[in-house]
Amino acid sequence: MAVDLGTANTLIYTVDDGIVLNQPSVVCFERHATPCESTLAAVGSAAKQLLGRTPANLETVRPLQHGVIANVPAAQQMIRSFVDMACPRRLFGRRATFTICVPAGATNVERRAIREAAFAAGAASVHLIGELLASAVGAGVPVASATASMVVDIGGGTTEVGMIAHGSVVCGGSARVGGDQFDLAIINHVRNVYGVMLGEQTAEHVKKTIGTALRNAPVERMRATGRSLEDSLPRTVELTSHDVADALVVPLRHVIDAVRAVLETAPPELVTDVAETGIVLTGGGALLANLDACLSAQLCVPVRVADEPMTCAVRGAGAAASLLDEYAFD
Ligand code: ADP
Ligand code: MG
Repeated sequence: MAVDLGTANTLIYTVDDGIVLNQPSVVCFERHATPCESTLAAVGSAAKQLLGRTPANLETVRPLQHGVIANVPAAQQMIRSFVDMACPRRLFGRRATFTICVPAGATNVERRAIREAAFAAGAASVHLIGELLASAVGAGVPVASATASMVVDIGGGTTEVGMIAHGSVVCGGSARVGGDQFDLAIINHVRNVYGVMLGEQTAEHVKKTIGTALRNAPVERMRATGRSLEDSLPRTVELTSHDVADALVVPLRHVIDAVRAVLETAPPELVTDVAETGIVLTGGGALLANLDACLSAQLCVPVRVADEPMTCAVRGAGAAASLLDEYAFD
């Protein structure tokens, strides 16, 4: 089975059943009198619902932040719970091989922690694959080709950029900007312009509903409720897609700068390749409307959004795993 351990979402894929789990990467612990003893209270979407509204005896954590494992024990608990949810132990045999996508920046200590968590969850063997390479495979990029392609994965807390050729990431980079920073930019914009403080989940909902990377798209409107800065009472404002486009100018510039930085340091041959093959966008952030047009206008290269960008990494890891199996049986 393949596991994509993302900052925002964790996905599990099996060759036989496809995507068997797609849950927010959130865990909620119940605190006990003894500080080191805490038990798992909720995981995944049940835990995400508690974010921002957690009772005092509970603690809600996102074990991964900015593409790195910020809380190793919580990440291990989360992996074990998700594997149990996706595939109850009696259903999957002893020979399960796990292929897990890890962020490019994961340290050896983090990699070992992920391996241990996978073994604790019942894995017989564990392969780790870079998230960007897995995303490229899932997006249908010809990764083995000598001609380089560029993949930009916009996740919850990071944007990973890489040029891929000969089956590996030839050069790449990352920036600490992703969907979470888009949400925060919307919160700041609405606070400054309308004097209303939105919650993070409301801002994310606004982004998904009327979000756009370009101002010249037809205007869409929606109502959002937050707390008025004036009297601290609930206040509903009508937001337009132009509000979101204005709010996202700065975080999108960070995404563009990250891509530019990789293009600037890459050997000229690779840049020539990318001018032809273009850029493929993966990750949930790629679902922002008109992002492809915005990037292509700024970078002067063709840009396309992968099919099902949020599941590229896990599907690609699954495909890479079946290749490994083939090799193993040779
Ligand atoms: P990660 O790999 O870090 O777990 P994902 O690839 O799952 O991240 O992407 C999660 C991000 O994608 C979140 O910030 C979420 O708000 C954003 N996202 C999901 N759907 C949309 C959408 N329709 N429009 C804009 N952003 C979206
Ligand atoms: Mg991801």
